Amino acid sequence: MNQAVAIRIQGTIQGVGFRPFIWQLAKRYQLCGDVCNDGSGVLIRAYPIPDLQRFTQDLRMHAPPLSDVQNVGWQFFHWHQPPPNFSIRASCLDGSQTAIAPDAATCPECLAEIFSPTSHRYRYPFTTCTHCGPRFSVIEALPYDRERTTLHEFPLCSDCLSEYHSPDNRRFHAESTACPDCGPKLIWLDHSPHVRHLDPLATALATLQEGKIILLKGLGGFHLVCDATNEQTLATLRQRKQRVSKPFALMVPNHQWLAKLVVPEQLAVAHRLLSSSAAPIGLFRRRIDAPIASLVAPRLDELGLIYPSNPLHHLIAREFNRPLVLTSANQSALAPMLDDEHVWETLGPLVDGMLGHNRKIVTRVDDSLLRLDHQQQAVLLRRSRGYVPQSSLMDEVLMLAAPLLAMGADLKNTFALARNREVILSAHFGDLTSLSVQNQYQQAIEHYLKLYQLHPEHIVIDAHPGYYSHQIGRMLAEQLNAQVVKVYHHHAHVAAAMVEAQVKANQQVVGICLDGLGMGPNGTWWGGECLVADYQSFEHVGGLPAVALPGANLAARQPWRNLLAQWLAFVPNWSERWPNDLADCPVQPLSAAIARQVNSPLASSAGRLFDAVAAYLGCSPRVLDYEGQAAISLEQLAMQVSSLPTSLTMALVPCGDQYYLDMTDFWQQWLSVKGSRAQKAWLFHDALANGFAQLALKVADARRIETIVLCGGVMNNLLLRSRFEYYLKSKRVICARQYPCGDGGLALGQAAIGAAQLQI
Ligand SMILES: [Zn+2]
Ligand SMILES: [Zn+2]
Ligand SMILES: [Zn+2]
Repeated sequence: MNQAVAIRIQGTIQGVGFRPFIWQLAKRYQLCGDVCNDGSGVLIRAYPIPDLQRFTQDLRMHAPPLSDVQNVGWQFFHWHQPPPNFSIRASCLDGSQTAIAPDAATCPECLAEIFSPTSHRYRYPFTTCTHCGPRFSVIEALPYDRERTTLHEFPLCSDCLSEYHSPDNRRFHAESTACPDCGPKLIWLDHSPHVRHLDPLATALATLQEGKIILLKGLGGFHLVCDATNEQTLATLRQRKQRVSKPFALMVPNHQWLAKLVVPEQLAVAHRLLSSSAAPIGLFRRRIDAPIASLVAPRLDELGLIYPSNPLHHLIAREFNRPLVLTSANQSALAPMLDDEHVWETLGPLVDGMLGHNRKIVTRVDDSLLRLDHQQQAVLLRRSRGYVPQSSLMDEVLMLAAPLLAMGADLKNTFALARNREVILSAHFGDLTSLSVQNQYQQAIEHYLKLYQLHPEHIVIDAHPGYYSHQIGRMLAEQLNAQVVKVYHHHAHVAAAMVEAQVKANQQVVGICLDGLGMGPNGTWWGGECLVADYQSFEHVGGLPAVALPGANLAARQPWRNLLAQWLAFVPNWSERWPNDLADCPVQPLSAAIARQVNSPLASSAGRLFDAVAAYLGCSPRVLDYEGQAAISLEQLAMQVSSLPTSLTMALVPCGDQYYLDMTDFWQQWLSVKGSRAQKAWLFHDALANGFAQLALKVADARRIETIVLCGGVMNNLLLRSRFEYYLKSKRVICARQYPCGDGGLALGQAAIGAAQLQI
């Protein structure tokens, strides 16, 4: 009898060079047998039985860089006739359980090839291997092989084919591999259509050198690119894009340049994060003497920076050798266009040329964005390229009997698919207000469902009937004959952080949820709430008192409106103190409208409270240029503080079983502080954290709850987060890091609540 072993490996191990790695490992161990991908992961059959401890240790330690081994198990069996050698068997996949790897930045070996004049792939912008390159963004269907990617239009030449079939080559089964002979090619377009450009890359570089602006096709969308050191070029870009002050991200050619832009204390961690295979944009504190145009990020202390992450970016960055603006070419409020012709037709007039190529984009994948907290740990603000579609596991009690789709929110939209215990959050879609984004969102849902071969039987929607995501979810439910589950916005925020922190289903938490706006029960508008929650249900235990949102949506764009609403509610004799620089605001008519409750719904929004304080301190423009601008300026102002004149507290007012923050008391104390604007900004952050922390601790202690969740988009404010952590030291504090804490992570929580409610 031949005793053999079947080793089962699970995780992100398909399409990342895992089978050839096993093949090499098996050779080292002198094993016979085979390895294959199947619906449950990778299966190895080995004879004779190796030292399994050592074998699995080697397997985990030396696994390919893009793989993520989550589970290894084995079973012995009798192999009647083991083969004489070790082979890689063809895959038999149905896709149902397959994990797809995210797109990954160019690996060092490929990089060396594109810069080596003797290499066949010298200056070839589509060079990839199993350790790097596009994955998720080129897959049209599963199983993951070349026929089902956007590369299927480019049959492999004989050289590529022989690499593809050699287990000892790093392009063995590299589905997106290509070379100058057989792969995609660059295309240059400009406004002189009759001139032929033999070298599109050289033409693009020459155009950039002249201080002009070009469109650049990427993996999952188009960027606008220009010289970031040229003030005149930046002025032209801002004028053409009609973007007054929203900051632009920069592509930084190398570490030397990074050191010229980022403060020394953040340099090492910035370099490490930007060099990761996800290659996100990172926000880092800028040096005052950073040699870039002032119009890149006016009045901001942080710069959004990214390293080159694909061969084309590397080729451009190395040759240009100074920072380039690399900003999404999306027109505000419209869906980003994904096909060259459409892009050139629409955006061509804004630019001097376009460097495109003939590999099509199947699904939108934006750049991801992260920031450092006070402990220099990364916090994801936008989770897309490089991270999607990595999944998270819910508590096993929430195991789903049938697949589920969670629709997300209307701003910063992402949606989620869940199967068994696994939740997969989609790429970022943003604001669903425009019809074109709604269409893209629906197409993407279709694409993801097809990719994972899922037929959701439950669709989770935000309770707000006015949300497009709510309406589209209902429509889909009808089409798919699925059951609708409605969840409340702030409950979903709390649950999202709980999933990431792997909170158990039987555990209760106190959630502090601070955001712009979301609907609570009975049509109330929430945004500064304290909840006691588990995955299944929640109870509201207090928070900020509600005030008017004067002009409804306008309140989110004009901070002074919120100052007026706060003061009308909480500051007696407010008109005597009204700031001079806001004297020409139409205060009287708006006060009258608020008094008559005309277009002034009540809301307890923390986001609008930040706007009010920013308006008073004069640190934001009269009309905001981008979402969150006032809060960002306020945090930045507060960070300038070096000493404090006093400290403030926020008292709690009981109201039935609940507690509300005493804003009358706060404004009176805060307005009477004799301090600088920066000190007042800091004291506001501190007092708000103090007030909410007291509320949370009171509730947690009364109910013996040990975990406090911080969530909602306002928690992107890292000074506020750090003050919360200070006041909540006695508890376990949870706050999202790997998923956005704002609406970009909402669908994760919706999925978990849906799963919990289906268990009843
Ligand atoms: Zn590579
Ligand atoms: Zn080739
Ligand atoms: Zn929210």
